[in-house]
Amino acid sequence: MTPIDAGGRPPRRTRPPGARRALGAALAVLVAAGVPASATTAARPFGLPFAQPPGPGTWYVAQPYGNTVYAYFERNTLYGAGQGLHMGLDLAAACGTPVVAVGDGTVLSVDGRGGSPPHNLMIDHHNGMVSFYGHLRERPALAVGQYVRRGEPVALSGDMYGTCQASPHLHLEIRDRSLNRVFNPVALIDADWHGLLLLGAAPPAFERDLDAPRRWQAIDDQPDITLGGRLLNAFEHAWPAGGRP
Ligand SMILES: [Zn+2]
Repeated sequence: MTPIDAGGRPPRRTRPPGARRALGAALAVLVAAGVPASATTAARPFGLPFAQPPGPGTWYVAQPYGNTVYAYFERNTLYGAGQGLHMGLDLAAACGTPVVAVGDGTVLSVDGRGGSPPHNLMIDHHNGMVSFYGHLRERPALAVGQYVRRGEPVALSGDMYGTCQASPHLHLEIRDRSLNRVFNPVALIDADWHGLLLLGAAPPAFERDLDAPRRWQAIDDQPDITLGGRLLNAFEHAWPAGGRP
């Protein structure tokens, strides 16, 4: 509630004398560090899909987006349509963990295309991007066209096998409006991703192209995907080698 003074007008906001100087100093530090004041929100417009803080008992990164060893091994099967890469970010979470919208938008589909059974959800954010939530526990109680706000609970996380014991996690994707281009969510969600990796059971395993050994080896250095495009990880000299031909 806003306090109203005797004249019926809201009181003028006053700032302690040092506050403006302190704000200026903080901005100066950011500028000196090469960070424009608006850079993080402009470059990474979305928030995390869970309201709970990360932790071993809540949620953590299980499989990054992109050139993972698992995706490489399944490049000709499960991940073939996505250029051999993992098209989303897997966040381990107990079945029934509330999932929140990563940004304002309208519901584009409920149990529509995109797979990731048993249930899925797409939200159009009207900035050229769509978020996709897969392996949901139950069909989200939302109508297509319904407006949702960033941080609003929209679904419950589940398990791809439906048992809640095999591999409970949320599969999160960010696509363009055509749904044919897929982006690394890490590049678009404002979070301390390198810090988050410390919570996982093991460091993320990326497949290595021995002809370009530093390429696509970090959670925030992964290529965009065009559905139906050629395999990006058909490396001539790969490590570890293997997988189904
Ligand atoms: Zn996944």
